Amino acid sequence: MSTVDEIAALPIPERGRFGEFGGQYVAETLMPAITELEAAWRVARGDAKYWDEVDGLLADYVGRPSRLYHAKRLSADIGAAIYFKREDLNHTGAHKINNCIGQAVLARRMRKKRLIAETGAGQHGVATATVAALFGLPCEIYMGAEDVVRQALNVERMRLLGATVHAVESGTRTLKDAMNEALRDWVTNVGDTFYLIGSVAGPHPYPWMVRDLQSVIGREARTQILAAAGRLPAACIACVGGGSNAGGLFAPFVEDAAVALYGVEAAGEGIGTGRHAATLAAGRVGVLHGSKSYVLVDRDGQIAHAHSISAGLDYPGVGPEHAAWKQSGRVRYLARTDNDALEALERLARSEGILCALETAHAVAAIDEVAKHLLLSAPNIGPIIVGLSGRGDKDMTTVAQRRGAR
Ligand SMILES: *Cc1c(COP(=O)(O)O)cnc(C)c1O
Repeated sequence: MSTVDEIAALPIPERGRFGEFGGQYVAETLMPAITELEAAWRVARGDAKYWDEVDGLLADYVGRPSRLYHAKRLSADIGAAIYFKREDLNHTGAHKINNCIGQAVLARRMRKKRLIAETGAGQHGVATATVAALFGLPCEIYMGAEDVVRQALNVERMRLLGATVHAVESGTRTLKDAMNEALRDWVTNVGDTFYLIGSVAGPHPYPWMVRDLQSVIGREARTQILAAAGRLPAACIACVGGGSNAGGLFAPFVEDAAVALYGVEAAGEGIGTGRHAATLAAGRVGVLHGSKSYVLVDRDGQIAHAHSISAGLDYPGVGPEHAAWKQSGRVRYLARTDNDALEALERLARSEGILCALETAHAVAAIDEVAKHLLLSAPNIGPIIVGLSGRGDKDMTTVAQRRGAR
């Protein structure tokens, strides 16, 4: 099947909503820009020429399709066939580039002359700066001043790639403030600027568009597992920050009732401590960055500070489609602590020779529980696909510090 047909099979959010979630909770001044983007996405999504260009770059520049790897030693240990969808092998080392390529091609179609983006840990900033260089577009990245200090290496990468990095001093000086600042830039420069959001968050059409662009993960995995195992998976597991790698893996399987889907959030130091990022497990319904979903709030109802050992899961919101999947029960959401993630990272390193990102390690830490659960209902379960969202190089300092402290 061609990409345009595969994409056409994915659901379109009605009136910009997934059930009660999503929508466009933005200032009046942003509406023209959002309406223009939504219209452009509707056309591009159904245009084979758009997908030819995106697929060409994903193949030649990113190195897709990414491999679906049968982890035999881990499978023997767990008692189920475990397959990893290797997004860590992409250029720049994670899934984020898939989305950036798609949005950059759209920006060029819309004749936008400038890319802006928000970033927390800097991974999305690096991916955006990368495609900006590839397309020869000027690029400005908004990053909380706190994060600029914490993620100095990624700031240097962005600058080397030619991007300007703005340290945002307002609020808590982290990701949510960077996103507010990027939205402000967009309002001021709507005519020539494209705002490239990094996850399935933000106002409609972003959660929809980013899910479609990341669905390449699940579309490939579906073909690959049918070829490798001759059947659909029993389950898919992926970590959830904003929810883009999970949404991209899950979306092409959502209609297959026999495929169980599991998202894994960051429980940080434990949900009971209040220091975590498990938005779906412990948050409330609310509005953040233009969309209605679950959000983490403190006792005064203010957006809370999220915590996770993995900077990429450290977001007090989550994509609205996940909120709808949670509500309908189609996807089950688990949470794993910082320590669980560290242990899983070590286990995967020793059993398969793969150093995954700390974000990914949360999904790896849930494999045992998922397999055990599935084995209760059938003694001979099908394969389990785990989204390996990124490689661990960026996390080696954190991991070394934590191991040293044990
Ligand atoms: C950013 C990131 C995540 C979390 O983002 P999602 O939108 O939830 O996918 C997960 N893994 C890696 C490697 C990341 O860089």
